[in-house]
Amino acid sequence: MLVDSFGRVATDLRVSLTDRCNLRCAYCMPPEGLDWLPKPDLLTGEEVVRLVRIGVERLGIREVRFTGGEPLLRRELVDIVTAAAALRPRPQVSLTSNGIGLARLAEPLAKAGLDRVNISLDTLDREVFARLAHRDRLHDVLDGLAAAAAAGLTPVKVNAVLMRGINEHDAVPLLRHCLDRGYELRFIEQMPLDAQHGWRRDDMVTADEILGLLKDSFDLTEDDPRERGSAPAELFLVDGGPGRVGVIGSVTRPFCGACDRVRITADGQVRNCLFATEESDLRTALRSGASDDDLAARWVAAVRGKKAGHGIDDSAFLQPARPMSAIGG
Ligand code: SAM
Repeated sequence: MLVDSFGRVATDLRVSLTDRCNLRCAYCMPPEGLDWLPKPDLLTGEEVVRLVRIGVERLGIREVRFTGGEPLLRRELVDIVTAAAALRPRPQVSLTSNGIGLARLAEPLAKAGLDRVNISLDTLDREVFARLAHRDRLHDVLDGLAAAAAAGLTPVKVNAVLMRGINEHDAVPLLRHCLDRGYELRFIEQMPLDAQHGWRRDDMVTADEILGLLKDSFDLTEDDPRERGSAPAELFLVDGGPGRVGVIGSVTRPFCGACDRVRITADGQVRNCLFATEESDLRTALRSGASDDDLAARWVAAVRGKKAGHGIDDSAFLQPARPMSAIGG
């Protein structure tokens, strides 16, 4: 088991398949993009599958979420999902994606064993989308969402980040759009993980503000908190339900005490937290002939050192060197 020194058990594995992305969301990376990881540094599809297998078969991982960067850019994605879904005990297999390309891939991914998707969508306004993501691709994201639902990748969850002065006013139309189509919308507070280091606490649209914006148009009642478990979102029934909305207050309402996540970056580093400043290298061992036992032992040791919390409120907080796109959100 992957147990840390505070007794938390990591069962939810986030695997980044690439640091590349076809959008340039302002809260994530600059318009000109970043220096991507060199290809030889990336884990191959087989290496990814081996680590996932060790996690599932030996270390108690029950959920595997592929992310990035943009995971749909990874050519072997369908094969990787097929291999993950064939593991026993069968893990839940999901994907976090911007949805571009999902119109074509949703069906093959569902057939490969993908259970569900989280799609990022911050606005329904084409101009705002193009300004925020620096690409005119809103129609592709909406097509991807519809294809995911049609392929049965449900519940389709939608992630939205609000930026002050850019898309706060999209909160209500986004929720209406999602409720009408049976998607579960979650708002995520903007975190200090952008490559440009442009995050300012005062600019962040807080969970309280998000709830305030929604309450002007909807009646929100807290869903049974016992249902929340280790999930980061606080859930609210909308207008009495059954539709729900979630708010992930990563900064103002941290949930580190219940965290059950562990991450592997696209270049094979174990990270215990989005905000970790330390990583444990599995790739070097993997490529030097380490056995499954050895890799499992290194992974166990890496998780043991997980910190109590993300520390954003500590005066000594330092933003991690890697941006979100290179960690795997
Ligand atoms: N490309 C995929 C996508 O768009 O969902 C997966 C990777 S992306 C890094 C994963 C999630 O992180 C997205 O929902 C995105 O909105 C969110 N994200 C990126 N930067 C963020 C930040 N600074 N604060 C909060 N969420 C962020």
